[in-house]
Order: sequence, then structure tokens, then C-alpha cells
Amino acid sequence: MRLILLGPPGAGKGTQSQQLVEKYGIVQLSTGDMLRAAVKAGTPVGQKAKDIMARGELVPDDVVVAIVADRIDQPDAKNGFILDGFPRTVPQAEALDLMLKAKGTQLDGVIELKVDEDALLRRIESRVAESKARGVTLRADDNPDVLAQRLKAYREQTSPLVAYYAGKGALRSVDGMASIPAVTAAINGLLNGSKEKGPAKTRRPRRKDGSVRDGADQPGAGRRSAAAKIARKTANLGALTRGKAGN
Ligand code: AMP
Repeated sequence: MRLILLGPPGAGKGTQSQQLVEKYGIVQLSTGDMLRAAVKAGTPVGQKAKDIMARGELVPDDVVVAIVADRIDQPDAKNGFILDGFPRTVPQAEALDLMLKAKGTQLDGVIELKVDEDALLRRIESRVAESKARGVTLRADDNPDVLAQRLKAYREQTSPLVAYYAGKGALRSVDGMASIPAVTAAINGLLNGSKEKGPAKTRRPRRKDGSVRDGADQPGAGRRSAAAKIARKTANLGALTRGKAGN
């Protein structure tokens, strides 16, 4: 299964990804985590990303796309993955489409966690305050000013992806303001629904009494059986001219 979780910072993408990882045995690919690891390790990518991330802005598309292209090629991603925090711009989404196409695969769905921005800010602020009170080290970009910038980046650069994926018929939305278990249940409902839907079954036509019509009494059936007779005759004719009488 290959999924994207879409939503602004603090919408619960990370939390929901973990639930999906356990349920479906796929890996969570968080570009934020990968970039933070690169910053910590002091790699060239990390050095490039450090200040941009600290300001709450987006790291250039080519940098992030290269990281993801590498990561989805790893053996643990073969089974499937959840992209958390990627794509964040339309060019990233287009690059992802090309990457998957080149691998002969495609996305199974894009799940949008719909949230109310004001409520989200309050939620994040209280989360930050709780973490501080517990003595947990905060991320460099977990402060009100940077959060406002991260939300602005989402609104301006990432939210167009909602229309992008809706246009492809891939977007499914859930209420991200509900409780964590309720959001998990809603996501599972969507995923099971899309699995169960499968290819459309052919409905066999029935008579008024409920019995199945075998086709002989359907409109056009006479024409079809006449055509079948002609086809059989020509086949026999071909066999006769080759010296094999109709077997
Ligand atoms: P996150 O942990 O997803 O909130 O990401 C933290 C920060 O990493 C973001 O504010 C961006 O600076 C950077 N980042 C993560 N993913 C991307 C991405 N797909 N495109 C650009 N920047 C990203």
C-alpha cells in the first residue's frame, strides 16, 4: 500500500502514520525526520536545510525529491509506505508521480486530515507548553513564530495539493479535529472501503420474478445468435477448404 497523509503541521500525520505502519506492515517516510537526521549528522543536505527549517520555510524541491527518490528504493519500502510531509508542493507531487510511474507503480490513495487552523494553533501551543513542562527538548521549529510561518507555507504552497489529488480522483478526507482513535477509525474505514470496492461486478439481468435471464430473451439476442451461426459456418468452411471437416 502506498499512501500520502496530507495536512498542516500539528494535524496528526505522524501519529496516524504510526498506526498505519503497525496495521499494514509498511514504512513511514517522513521527510521532516529525514531532514532533521541530516541536520544532526551535518551532511551537505543537512547544512543546506538547517536554517530554512529553523525559519519554518520549505527546503528546495530538488533536495527533498532526491531524498525521497533514494528512500523509496530501499528494500524496506518495497512492501509499501506512507509519505508523511511529502509532497509539500505541486512540483514535488509531479516528481513523485514520475518516480512511481518509472517503477511501474502508483499511489493507493491520498488522505487529507482536515483541520481548523485556529483550533490547530491552540492545539500546538498547548502541546508545546506540555512538552516544556515535562522537560522534553523541543524541536527548533516548535515555537509560535516559526509555527505561524509553517502554517503559512502550508496554506500557500501545500494546500494546492488538495485540488491536485482531488482532480486525479485520489483524495479522501477525514476530520482531523476528532480524537486520535476516531481519526484512526475513519482512515481505516476509508482504506477498507477502497479495498472492498474492487472492480465493479457485472450484474446479471433478472426477470420480474427474480430468476436470472440467460440472454436468449434479451434485446439483440436474436441478432447475436445469427452472427454466431455465421461465424460457425465460416469456420467450418475454412476447415473444409483445408481438408478438415469441421473438427
Ligand atoms: P515536518 O516534520 O514535516 O513538519 O517538517 C519540518 C520541516 O522540514 C518543514 O518545516 C520544512 O522546513 C522541512 N520539510 C519537511 N518536508 C519537506 C518537504 N516535503 N518539502 C520541503 N521542506 C520540507
